[in-house]
Amino acid sequence: MRRFSEGRVDMKTELVGMNQTELEDFFQDRGEKRFRGRQVYRWIYLNLERDFASMTDLPLQLRQVLEEKARVTWPEVLEEKVSEDGTRKFLLELQDQKTIEMVLIPQPVDSGLRYTVCVSSQVGCPLRCSFCATGAGGFERNLKVHEIVGQVLLSRWVLARENTGAEPRLTNVVFMGMGEPFLNYDAVLSAIRLLTDSEGINMGQRHITVSTSGEVRGIRRLAEEGLQVVLAVSLHAARDSLRDTLVPLNRRYPLAELQSAVQYYFDKTGRRVTLEYILLNRINTNREDARALVTFTRPLLANVNLIPYNEIGSAGYECPPQEVVTRFRRWLEEAGVNTAIREERGADIDAACGQLKAKREDIWQENDTG
Ligand code: SF4
Repeated sequence: MRRFSEGRVDMKTELVGMNQTELEDFFQDRGEKRFRGRQVYRWIYLNLERDFASMTDLPLQLRQVLEEKARVTWPEVLEEKVSEDGTRKFLLELQDQKTIEMVLIPQPVDSGLRYTVCVSSQVGCPLRCSFCATGAGGFERNLKVHEIVGQVLLSRWVLARENTGAEPRLTNVVFMGMGEPFLNYDAVLSAIRLLTDSEGINMGQRHITVSTSGEVRGIRRLAEEGLQVVLAVSLHAARDSLRDTLVPLNRRYPLAELQSAVQYYFDKTGRRVTLEYILLNRINTNREDARALVTFTRPLLANVNLIPYNEIGSAGYECPPQEVVTRFRRWLEEAGVNTAIREERGADIDAACGQLKAKREDIWQENDTG
């Protein structure tokens, strides 16, 4: 069972991140009826309520005790940028003043707009992929369950506040923000179980994507969970010598090990894996790279998403011209690999992982030194 001392900053117990049973236990441990836990569960996850005073089906005295002993918090919005294409990027502040990023991506559908939220799983990232602003900024700490789920609750709240209809428009969650989700495995899994609880947030498992840079132990563990979530692997190179430089985790888990883990995941779950491949001009876009990618992908029956690079100031990589992107896709498709080009979203607002935080910290540094 969860220890209630966990997650305390101000000696209050954080209730976001607890599942229904944990909330029932919380109330029972304090001499209350278990059903109070179910009531609060609904307030937090269905009604998006953070103020105990507004939880009107709880006795007044209990609400006052909760004010003193517990809290319901989400990350706070420090900054929001809106792209021409409608993508919205948020810089969020946590209780300890650390900052993370979250991106809301709209998609038009017949009945209006549907949103995907891209959430962070760590403050910074220890893996230091050479093209990534988050990696360049280093690692600070893992996010707690309430900080991960809090990003989704915040997104729902932002959208509900603007929406005139009753139905929430947030349909998908992708773990593609800051951090490597499998280096924070337990918190990410607890968050996924909360997000998909049919008595709570109730998102479809297939609407949740976990993206890993190739943390093989996490892939194998996820295969055993009995979940139907989508697994995406950030591949970016299918030759070890190149991948070692782009994704340093490759030195620990080379391509053969990664391929075997992905195969295991597919065999165990029957779910096709998506391979993400950022196209870096003249780095991983030649014929040899395409052949290697085909060799890696074919036995896995995986889908490939090609993502033209979103240029960040200091990394020194370039986005390839359109003809290079088209040619690379053609090479894959001619070899029978199911390939899509992922539309670049929010390029004008630094929507690639870590860019907004990096930029803000640059500004702070300029201010500090200036
Ligand atoms: S790309 Fe992902 S795994 Fe790599 S450094 Fe950036 S956040 Fe970490």
